[in-house]
Amino acid sequence: MSLHDSPPPSPTLPAYTSSFKFSRVLMRLPRISLSKCLIAFFYHLMLFCICLIPILVMVTIIKYKMIPDQYDYSQVTFDWKIDPRGYLIPMNGSIGTHNDSGGVEILLDGHVHTTRSDGKLSPEQVIQWGIANGYNAMIVSDHNTIKGGLEAKEIAETKYNDSIIIIPAVEYSNCRIHMNLIGLTQDIPYGSAEPSDDEIKQIIDLTHELGGLVSVNHIPWSNKTESGYEVATLPNHPTREQLVEWGVDAFELINGGTFDMQTYLYVSSLSHSPPLFFLSGTDLHYPNTPAYAWTLLSTPSFTSESLFTTLRSRPSTSFLFDPAGTRFISYPPERSSYYALLPLMELADYWTSFYEESRGMYSFMGSFCHERKMYYVKTVEKKEYVVVERVVTDRRIIDKEDGMGREALRKLAELNVYYALARLLSSSPTTIAFSKLAPQFAVSSPAYPSSFNFFR
Ligand SMILES: [Zn+2]
Ligand SMILES: [Zn+2]
Repeated sequence: MSLHDSPPPSPTLPAYTSSFKFSRVLMRLPRISLSKCLIAFFYHLMLFCICLIPILVMVTIIKYKMIPDQYDYSQVTFDWKIDPRGYLIPMNGSIGTHNDSGGVEILLDGHVHTTRSDGKLSPEQVIQWGIANGYNAMIVSDHNTIKGGLEAKEIAETKYNDSIIIIPAVEYSNCRIHMNLIGLTQDIPYGSAEPSDDEIKQIIDLTHELGGLVSVNHIPWSNKTESGYEVATLPNHPTREQLVEWGVDAFELINGGTFDMQTYLYVSSLSHSPPLFFLSGTDLHYPNTPAYAWTLLSTPSFTSESLFTTLRSRPSTSFLFDPAGTRFISYPPERSSYYALLPLMELADYWTSFYEESRGMYSFMGSFCHERKMYYVKTVEKKEYVVVERVVTDRRIIDKEDGMGREALRKLAELNVYYALARLLSSSPTTIAFSKLAPQFAVSSPAYPSSFNFFR
């Protein structure tokens, strides 16, 4: 076609006239009744659910049966040696005293766990970790079993008798209190997950009858709000006054990196004879746990029995305390299949969390202590925060700022929609909720004066 040729006539477009009716188009569509539409919709929904079920079952099986244990530290070794005396000043004079009376200087870790309960290191690895971190004595205290302590003592005496001494113990653990029963040589009946005051007192008496000592563990951990939930970790913890009256021998002054100054001030104000004594504990569970504190004391000879006799005399202990802890050493999972299956694990974790999260804290008695109270933050029209509390006994709505009706919020909570929203909206909504609404909470714990307000 040359440039001079006239352009071809443009195709005649059908004129848009009033005779064009959308209804005519609709009429050409196959006629389906509303009821048929609904039936088709639910049919396909059912098919979708039927397909979804095996997928969810599969990821659950993968999570519990197929994914390699990411906490398998059975091959981990500790090939360094720290001497905290080289860089830390003892708390002599300020917190306790350490009189080097010519005996053996002890650097004690008063609270560690092994694979015999929920620790991730075997008794021998715990010993090796202790030696690497500058300890020459440990109280091995697994949750409600003496096995780890007895095993560790035997291993220490046969293989590491120049380096470390072990005193076996049990961490009596339940939904009300954690206490180290030090120096036991056998298991005792550990009672129920929610022991009464009398039951706790009986445990203390029984430990004394068997020649042991009782040390109250980590009061700050027990009383503080469980991470992410508006509930104390151990909600009905006995008071310090009760525990002293019931005859405990010691308190854990430092647990991990937490120094319990209030317990120190309280116990120091007592006029007991002999005075109660203090211990520190790493509460070791994982190999990457830093060491923060070393309990200092002297004992006549370097044996477990000699050290235990010294503890029975309720010695004045001093501490080396490093709030920064020993340097963090990372032990990533070694099995390559762990990383290969990681995406599936993420999916499985998400799915199973709906079940696992609500079960609450493990009691160490084969049960769970209390359903967790879950918060979520929902951004509403006015960009204000709404907090809904999930309470087992009465599903109270503790706060509302958005003008939504209380009943509407209650229904939301009861539908558990909030839980899914919480996970979708933010990974850490609790922090925002607490900071915004903190003054409105008033939760007290029996271990503190009743006027104490947790969130103020
Ligand atoms: Zn504990
Ligand atoms: Zn512990």
